[in-house]
Amino acid sequence: MSKKIFNSIWLITLSVLIASLFIILGAVYNNFTDRQFEQLRGELSLAAKGISQGGMSYFDDLDMQDLRVTLITGNGTILYDNEADSSQMVNHLERDEIREAMDSGYGESLRYSDTLSVKQLYTAKLLPDGTVLRLSVIQDTFWSLLLHLLPAIILVLLLALILSYFLASRITNMIVRPLNSLDLASPMTAAQDPAYSEIMPLLERLEAQHRQIEKDHEELERTSLIRQEFTANASHELKTPLHVISGYAELLESGMVPEDDTQRFLARISAESKRMSKLVEDIIDLSSLDSGAADLPREKADLYRIALNAAESLEEEAEEAGIHLSVSGESVFVSGIPQVLYSMIYNLCINAIKYSERGGITNVTVRKNAGSAVLTVEDNGIGIPREDLDRIFERFYRVDKSHSKEVGGTGLGLSIVKHGAKIHGADIHVESVLGAGSVFTLTFPLPA
Ligand code: ADP
Repeated sequence: MSKKIFNSIWLITLSVLIASLFIILGAVYNNFTDRQFEQLRGELSLAAKGISQGGMSYFDDLDMQDLRVTLITGNGTILYDNEADSSQMVNHLERDEIREAMDSGYGESLRYSDTLSVKQLYTAKLLPDGTVLRLSVIQDTFWSLLLHLLPAIILVLLLALILSYFLASRITNMIVRPLNSLDLASPMTAAQDPAYSEIMPLLERLEAQHRQIEKDHEELERTSLIRQEFTANASHELKTPLHVISGYAELLESGMVPEDDTQRFLARISAESKRMSKLVEDIIDLSSLDSGAADLPREKADLYRIALNAAESLEEEAEEAGIHLSVSGESVFVSGIPQVLYSMIYNLCINAIKYSERGGITNVTVRKNAGSAVLTVEDNGIGIPREDLDRIFERFYRVDKSHSKEVGGTGLGLSIVKHGAKIHGADIHVESVLGAGSVFTLTFPLPA
């Protein structure tokens, strides 16, 4: 980057200097021509006076140097020319400066000389005897002027080269140094420094990115911790029923269990196996919600119909627990993943059954309310203590662990509900009175 900035500045400075040099040379050259004309005009009027007084002999003693003198008659023939054979010269009446002098007494022009094949400055004056005196001088070419000034130009260019080199390295340094000393960990600390005022938008973007990275990092750490905890909890939860099953099976195998207790042992083995398989199912559900379920295709799903299906599959459990389970309301369509919606409603209903006394009532309602679909699962069961309400959605959190185990809980049901709500953009709300019952409300956005 420094090299690029340096080269650009150096190149620009040099180009500007060279261009200015040529412009100045052009201006000097024009000025030089004007001065040559001026000088020529002075010499012409002196020569005109000289000829009027002494005739052509005026030129005899004069050192002409580069000056060309021509005397032309009123009809254009050449009387005298100090640099060419006047008898060989063509009629000059049509020459610009001659014609102008004939008309107005004085004429001048800058043109190519047909006689000498060089660019010349001409001045001409009409003399009292009707002849025209013309003085001319070769105009210095631009390149000859350049050649004249070459040593000075080389010196100026060298100085300019050195100066622009130092200037370019200083400017490059001024641009790059603040960037290199920028503290990328906290870019906004440089905001007070005037050296950074031009790159404020960049600093702000860096700061925003920095904050985002920090947030992402914290989120990653948090989810990694949750995963670790989850794995530890899951293995522990799986180990307990497995120990019971293998212990009881070994006892039965050894034949040490009295005949009367065999049924009890077998029932325990069966209950623990059921709990284990429910736990495995819940773990699978949760991990599929964690990884990829959110990407499953959404479809128009009727919450009422899904609630009916869930209640139907829980009929047996409800009957066994002596709970009256009912679904009421109307069809409301949301955009969602049917199997996830089913799993959410199922878990809320089975909780209502599990945590209610025999003879309890669980009612599921589905309705539309203010542009959203509202599903409630209400029971008149044991209720949840106020201080536990915030934690019941955590994985493996249970208000009463032994009671949960007793009723076949895994501690994952409400986590599944919470996850499902999240991927559906649904809001979840619980109200509960200890000993009186609980109401879980899910509010889904309606499809546009
Ligand atoms: P579990 O498998 O133990 O039921 P959940 O995640 O489904 O796990 O629920 C977490 C805890 O919240 C339960 O252990 C229970 O203590 C409490 N809970 C959930 N639903 C209800 C309810 N309807 N009535 C009373 N307590 C409930």
